[in-house]
Amino acid sequence: MVNQSDISTRKESLKKLLQVIINHEEAIIKALYDDFKKPAFEAVLTETNYVISDLKETIKNINSWAKPKKVRSSILNFPSSDYIYSEPYGHVLILAPWNYPFQLALCPLVAAVAAGNKVTLKPSELTPNTSHIISKIISEAFAVKDVVVITGDATVATQLLSKRWDYIFFTGSVPVGKIVAQAAAVHLTPVTLELGGKSPCIVDETADLQLSARRIVWGKIINAGQTCVAPDYIMVHQKVKKEFTTYLIQEIEKALGTNPEQSPDFARIVNLKNWQRLNDLLSSETILYGGQTNKDTLYIAPTLLDEPKSTSPVMNEEIFGPILPILSFQSKIDLERIIKKYEKPLALYIFSSNKSFIDELLHNYSFGGGCVNDTVVHLVNNRLPFGGVGHSGLGAYHGKLSFDIFSHKKAIVKRGTWLDLPIRYAPYNEKLKMIRKLLKLI
Ligand code: NAD
Repeated sequence: MVNQSDISTRKESLKKLLQVIINHEEAIIKALYDDFKKPAFEAVLTETNYVISDLKETIKNINSWAKPKKVRSSILNFPSSDYIYSEPYGHVLILAPWNYPFQLALCPLVAAVAAGNKVTLKPSELTPNTSHIISKIISEAFAVKDVVVITGDATVATQLLSKRWDYIFFTGSVPVGKIVAQAAAVHLTPVTLELGGKSPCIVDETADLQLSARRIVWGKIINAGQTCVAPDYIMVHQKVKKEFTTYLIQEIEKALGTNPEQSPDFARIVNLKNWQRLNDLLSSETILYGGQTNKDTLYIAPTLLDEPKSTSPVMNEEIFGPILPILSFQSKIDLERIIKKYEKPLALYIFSSNKSFIDELLHNYSFGGGCVNDTVVHLVNNRLPFGGVGHSGLGAYHGKLSFDIFSHKKAIVKRGTWLDLPIRYAPYNEKLKMIRKLLKLI
């Protein structure tokens, strides 16, 4: 049952979690570095501080979010007062990926707890140091009966998915998303799927080319391109392609120097399997810039590819690494041919100062979310929903929406008893005429 004291309990446990995270912040940053050399700056910006801000916002707002919300009543129910009650689903399963292993495990967990659910969390097996510190934090902050972390790989995830849950929140790849959806369907369990895809960047001839290059490079090299909303490929107007490519190279070198392998600000690929996959994507492509790799250190240089064929592997899977294909276009038909070839992406980015071109693209294409003249930063605003559409995901979260997705919304009409208009009750007799007149008035 949802009552005020229950909400106070939730708030207290979130406050405790906040304190435990703050106490372990350095250990989290170290774990992220140990897992894939994530730079401390990125760890703070995109993981620890992200979760801390999310927790603070949730703690600040939980009372108003959880309170039954009064809505306007229908005149047909007069007299009544109508409410939406937020009810916890029950026991939630969260399956998290490795690329932002702390944030993408903890943010859904915070929302699920705030909404009053019990949680079982399985972090990714590919970032074991972060999974270890997550387990430690959760066991310090919560009783096992309320929130528990279970570590393991796909086998463990499969076992968890064979059980009945009241809600499943999954972040990961499209193929595993389909497995999760099938498992959820067995018990009609509601599910959020935060998936991926090929997110394009469109740069037209009216864009501020240098600034666009800086912002695209930033969105691509953060986390070494292992970001679900990273620009996957660029489509640049043919007239400005050469100049724009020069700016891209300048911006990579400004950020990471001429040898990014020496830079402390560039993460590594998470494991050998992904390194091998990315390394293979480079073979048989025309490399405009970069292309250096190091198997021993799982390094892949920020790499620009020139006009890969539409049939090449790099244009047929989510890249999820620091490789950026550059395609040129001359007309909107060219753009459409490329974009429509793929499933609806998680993000789409437009770089232009032509308002009608921007509006046309925003209206013509379906995608999870995106930016005009920037990349990735739509995730920063908690008032914006974050999620995909079609193959890039199902459902969206962040901010209050996160609380809402972990709550069943129960509709309640509280009828007054001092008046009971007889019109709705049989025998209907002459009432049809009256009800028609009445309905016209409403
Ligand atoms: P993944 O799908 O391989 O793994 C995600 C989780 O599912 C892990 O906990 C893993 O153990 C589990 N899993 C793996 N195989 C499974 C199986 N057969 N059955 C059940 N569970 C299984 O994804 P990943 O490699 O960790 O992450 C990368 C992918 O996630 C990319 O496609 C990326 O775009 C996507 N992603 C999406 C978002 C988003 O918010 N939309 C965020 C981050 C990553």
